[in-house]
Amino acid sequence: MTALLEARNVTKVFGGGMFQRNRTVAVDGISLELSGDQPSVTVVAGESGSGKTTLARLLLGIIRPTSGEVLYNGQDIGKLRRSERKNFRREIQAVFQDPFESYNPFYKVDHVMTAPASKFGLARTSAGRRKLVEEALEMVGLRPDETLGRYPHQLSGGQRQRVMVARALLLRPRIIVADEAVSMVDASLRATILENLLTLNTEFGISIIYITHDLTTAYQVGQNIVVLYQGAMVEAGDVELVIKDPKHPYTQLLVSSIPHPDPGKTWDEEEVAVAAGIPAGGRGQCLFVERCPHAMDACRDQSPPKFLLEKHRTAACFLYADKPTLAEGELNRLLSPSSGTTSSVA
Ligand code: SF4
Repeated sequence: MTALLEARNVTKVFGGGMFQRNRTVAVDGISLELSGDQPSVTVVAGESGSGKTTLARLLLGIIRPTSGEVLYNGQDIGKLRRSERKNFRREIQAVFQDPFESYNPFYKVDHVMTAPASKFGLARTSAGRRKLVEEALEMVGLRPDETLGRYPHQLSGGQRQRVMVARALLLRPRIIVADEAVSMVDASLRATILENLLTLNTEFGISIIYITHDLTTAYQVGQNIVVLYQGAMVEAGDVELVIKDPKHPYTQLLVSSIPHPDPGKTWDEEEVAVAAGIPAGGRGQCLFVERCPHAMDACRDQSPPKFLLEKHRTAACFLYADKPTLAEGELNRLLSPSSGTTSSVA
């Protein structure tokens, strides 16, 4: 069956132009597939510089891959016809960290909400569009009378973020790419917004790609997780397996950083700093080799392939060289929605 959205061996390299001597690999050979029939919540986790936001932008068609393809209904999103592109723009929605940064501060929330309703012809009349907007706001727990008629700066960060979830919901998308969607709101609102996202998945059948540096919320919302290091997938599988019993030394380092004795300290402030991208010439060995307590000679000689550790988990690490390597296309089976792993947000 054709996937609704698929990244197929996608690589993104920045730099290397006529006046740029350094090339940086931001995303390295990532494959990921989302079915339109089995709504899932897939977490893409990694530290700053791990390539997760670049991957989000590739999936949304904001930037083009250097190699590989991003496919929508089996077609390269860079080659979609006008009508298909419009469908892609409606069905694949984004919720960013603070999306109002990119909005005109002179537009009221009404415009932010009704413009896409008009663009995609969701209702014929302004009264019809208004009704859809109000319904979408109510779905995320916002009161239309307290939200409409206001400017972005008149709303709290949590309200603004929920408006963006409502805006995405308005278009009845099939996939939402949520990039650090709750990192700028406080703990109580974080739970509410995550609950909103989970509701979209369970009640409206919308798949979520939840991109985060925060393994705590990853565990709360995710069914599957893909851990990125320096643009490459180092471990992936069922979120329960990966976070409760990480196998890749990098994932182990990340998981050991939580929970924090200081509740005011966030994970990205821990001593797990990662350089932003790695020069293209630094590939051909394990990217984690300089920091890994288990490094062996083989780790410097070649990049580790993905080994199949168990039915719902893979890790790219020579510690598991006695396991079979992951066959082409097997990652998607491994990441297909597994039963009963979605948890509510506490
Ligand atoms: Fe460590 Fe080697 Fe595994 Fe890389 S491949 S994480 S260096 S043991």
